[in-house]
Amino acid sequence: MPPSILNFYPEELRTLLAQYGEKPYRADQLYAWLHEKAAVSYEEMTNLPKGLREQLERDYPLHPLRIVKELRSRRDGTRKYLFSLGDGNVIESVRMPYEHGISVCVSSQVGCHMGCRFCASTLDGLVRSLTAAEMLGQVYGIRREGEERVSHVVIMGSGEPLENYENTVRFIRQLSHPQGAQISQRNITLSTCGLVPEILKLAEEELAVTLAVSLHAPNDEKRKRLMPVANRYALRELIPACQVYFQKTGRRLTFEYALIENENDTPEDAAELAALLKGLHAHVNLIPVNAVRERNLRRPNASRVMKFQKKLEKYGINVTIRREMGADISGACGQLRKSYTETDQENGE
Ligand code: SAH
Repeated sequence: MPPSILNFYPEELRTLLAQYGEKPYRADQLYAWLHEKAAVSYEEMTNLPKGLREQLERDYPLHPLRIVKELRSRRDGTRKYLFSLGDGNVIESVRMPYEHGISVCVSSQVGCHMGCRFCASTLDGLVRSLTAAEMLGQVYGIRREGEERVSHVVIMGSGEPLENYENTVRFIRQLSHPQGAQISQRNITLSTCGLVPEILKLAEEELAVTLAVSLHAPNDEKRKRLMPVANRYALRELIPACQVYFQKTGRRLTFEYALIENENDTPEDAAELAALLKGLHAHVNLIPVNAVRERNLRRPNASRVMKFQKKLEKYGINVTIRREMGADISGACGQLRKSYTETDQENGE
């Protein structure tokens, strides 16, 4: 199969169309159709010559991601979409209403092999990484479903985006391109379990995206129990890498912290976390851990969560409790899973 034409930057489209004897402005028209208007067929690109459209149809057929299922939350307007890819794999994306638009949570891989103990996406391991086109396809597919503008994108679905580095960076550049969907880089968040070399590399890309780091523990010993990646990178390497990211980009860091009863939610944990993050331009996002059927982890009650928050605040740490969205459709953090059939079973269908 030829690569999806959605992967191409405008300059790459110009090179491609030059081979067909077309002028550069044709590439810009094509780019606008694909990215600004999220077109699904060449037929609708009426300002392009018919011959060119037919040629492209033969050489680069468009395969927009197909929605195989849509689940709507009864509680909060969240929707979960299951998209099927060209090779039959199925991925999940989540649409959340935001103040003045829609926020889309995209997957970066089919499955995941980072092995975090509390996460459903990693239960069956990694199948493969997604292309930039497949990541864009999730945003464009959701955009086509409604009138509202997609204003924010979070790369927080299944997969580890920094393990799929090149495609993820291409995805971000396309998504924020002035000739394309024009989603501001400031409204894009990339969430990682903490791959140190890639965080340092990302700091050099001159992107203004927010880096969210999944921390979940105040020290290496506890982190290793929850996240195998902690065996590869110690906090004394991870935290300085985050600091470099802040220095290079000026973007305030986010640390995600899933609270698990008696594992990482005691007042001592809060004090140790505060000491770890002292002096960083950081914001902590507390997420009471979401239930995952195969995982026996307890979510602390609201008062425990509040206590943890207050303690961090006492030490001067900027902290919020993440609003839980889409939990009733298994669309919340850590609940996305690989298989379509399993999702069906989960919802009792
Ligand atoms: N691999 C990336 C992005 C995907 S996970 C990362 O690790 O950041 C997105 C976020 O959901 C991460 O912060 C992850 O730790 C969190 N998460 C995973 N399972 C969860 C669960 N059961 N409850 C709450 N948060 C969870």
